[in-house]
Amino acid sequence: MFNGHFKECTEDAKRLGATSSAIILSKEIQVKDNLAALCNGEYTCPYYGLAASCPPYVEGPVEFRKWQSQSKYSIVVKIELLTSVMFSDERKGVTQLLHHIVAGVEQKAFETGFENSKGFAGGSCKSLFCDDQENCCALAENKPCRHIEIARPSMSGFGIDVIQLMTSSGWPAPKAEKSNLSDKDATSWMAGLIMLA
Ligand code: SF4
Repeated sequence: MFNGHFKECTEDAKRLGATSSAIILSKEIQVKDNLAALCNGEYTCPYYGLAASCPPYVEGPVEFRKWQSQSKYSIVVKIELLTSVMFSDERKGVTQLLHHIVAGVEQKAFETGFENSKGFAGGSCKSLFCDDQENCCALAENKPCRHIEIARPSMSGFGIDVIQLMTSSGWPAPKAEKSNLSDKDATSWMAGLIMLA
């Protein structure tokens, strides 16, 4: 029965714009405290503390591991993009698309019986969706997120090892390098995760 549901979710990911999607065992996801600490480490992310979906307001690695123990399978989605796009103003639109895909697959998972599923994308939702707003209304006014249908927390705040996620999905994970910009065909990637439960 579950195979049909997985297929619906992975097909939805492609329909929404993912280049590829994969099913992995949730226990393969590696969560590392030191990766989560990077959001406010030697270098502090300029969006640290500005959104309800970013540290220190997200549950972080400790809670993620509890969710992980209650989930058997996860879906990983990937968008392939030209490296030149990754280092351009168009990156924002592609990252917004990633959130759209993750939220869409999460919704499909709810509909197919995985009612406690959780989606994770990349980048700060403050920069992606509320850059023109002074505050995150969820933090400042205790209101529902303005973009609750689409905006999802970043994997970074939970310490999810995204390179490992790509490897578990059977995909290469070359690092996007500015030095590759002279190769107009060089490609890069973004990934998202939907943990089914
Ligand atoms: S209101 Fe804006 S900044 Fe706050 S969680 Fe939602 S998308 Fe992010």
